[in-house]
Amino acid sequence: MAEVKQAAQALDAALALLAAGEVVAIPTETVYGLAGDATSGQAVARIFEAKGRPRFNPLIAHVASMAMAEKIAVFDPLSARLAENFWPGPLTLVLPLREAFGIHPLVTAGLDTIALRMPRGFASGLIDRLGRPLAAPSANRSGRISATTAAAVAEDLGDRIRLVVDGGPTPVGVESTILKVEKGKLRLLRPGGVTADEIEKAVGMGVERYGDAAIEAPGMMASHYAPGASVRLDVAEVHPGEALLAFGPRRAAGSNDAAAVKNLSERGDLREAAANLFSYLKELDRSGAATIAVEPIPFDGLGEAINDRLRRAAAPRRHDMNRD
Ligand code: AMP
Ligand code: MG
Repeated sequence: MAEVKQAAQALDAALALLAAGEVVAIPTETVYGLAGDATSGQAVARIFEAKGRPRFNPLIAHVASMAMAEKIAVFDPLSARLAENFWPGPLTLVLPLREAFGIHPLVTAGLDTIALRMPRGFASGLIDRLGRPLAAPSANRSGRISATTAAAVAEDLGDRIRLVVDGGPTPVGVESTILKVEKGKLRLLRPGGVTADEIEKAVGMGVERYGDAAIEAPGMMASHYAPGASVRLDVAEVHPGEALLAFGPRRAAGSNDAAAVKNLSERGDLREAAANLFSYLKELDRSGAATIAVEPIPFDGLGEAINDRLRRAAAPRRHDMNRD
């Protein structure tokens, strides 16, 4: 079983494992990540293996400085401005790769672009000390709900990895926003912890969204974040025996007969709701209800990322090659 170590005492142990090409679960501000040296084929292969990920989707590489980022990828002026505004933080930029740096091709799935992010906190110090970028998808088995606590990581992956670094519950609670600058335009590849509004305000430009028909990045629309229970969205009425994922001060009809109720944010705060999303989904799943009913959640601000994750949690569970 993995050892769970407090972040304040875990830096040396994590470094030793990473330097040996092993993987380590680490806290970031978004969700827990399963990290490995992005220049080591062995480490990156172990990430896929531990997650049980059925296909080699590209991973996000995490950096500790702009200097490191610029050695790995080419920044156009707009991407540089976005990095200046939002790094460190929950924004990932897809950029042309500089192959000479030595990022292992498993990280990019052989693409000539790379997804880069600069995280805060423990992850940042770790990357700085290692001197190399870390590839780190969410620390959960393929297709399962992302982990926002060390305990959730240990429960899901504890028998497959050696160390979980405990940095407490992750403050943002949903994964990073993924953006790509294309022909001077901003394309949103995945909504996440930085809202489209915040991006538009920072650079004075609109963000273009992909329609569901035009998905280019792997892993974007698959059934994902799937709890054991089925998920029913935008409910006005709870059916007897269902568990209820609530939002805001007013309850759906029938909520008194729900098998279990968790409220993402009593006061209707989307930031609080994002931080609670994955742990509450897991908790309701543990109630044993066959279905989790979800009250409507507004689409503004972080609501876009929350609705995106819920839609995937509710997607049909065919065997899917894009699960992460
Ligand atoms: P995560 O599971 O949070 O590590 O996010 C990984 C996701 O980042 C992938 O599933 C892709 O959707 C996206 N991604 C990574 N690299 C690229 C890339 N080069 N181009 C487009 N999307 C990418
Ligand atoms: Mg994931």
